[in-house]
Amino acid sequence: MYVRDILRDKGENVVSLATNEPVANGLAMMAEKHIGAVLITGDDGSIAGILSERDIVAAIHTHGEGVFGKTVGELMTAKVVTCSPQDPIVAIMGMMTAKRFRHVPVLENGKLVGLISIGDVVKFRIEETEAEAEALRKYIAL
Ligand code: AMP
Repeated sequence: MYVRDILRDKGENVVSLATNEPVANGLAMMAEKHIGAVLITGDDGSIAGILSERDIVAAIHTHGEGVFGKTVGELMTAKVVTCSPQDPIVAIMGMMTAKRFRHVPVLENGKLVGLISIGDVVKFRIEETEAEAEALRKYIAL
């Protein structure tokens, strides 16, 4: 199973903000949309970075209340690891575990076509495992 199978269910919508938006707008996006990360885009719409809950926690630890004077561009992680729709889901699981992040934007021919989270990956794997178990049960009962 591949990243494109998750996107087929989930769609291509990615929640994003421009680098100069205040951090309060990033918090509002995450809270209202029930998501853990927002993609940050540059003036030309390209990926400038990613801002996750963890970046906000670290920034509060570092800046205290001063965090609200920051922009999302100042708090984001600028070096973003991406994947492609053709990547196997097990490879993305391995990458999330090894690199300790839970969100991966998906690019196809340089164009953003979605973002998958660890929640999407786990949901997909559970469904896949249940389908395999059901197929085996039916096979044994033959
Ligand atoms: P997360 O586990 O996704 O909440 O993120 C943990 C840390 O990794 C945060 O500093 C994020 O900004 C960063 N991060 C999340 N996703 C990515 C990614 N795809 N590439 C690089 N850094 C990321």
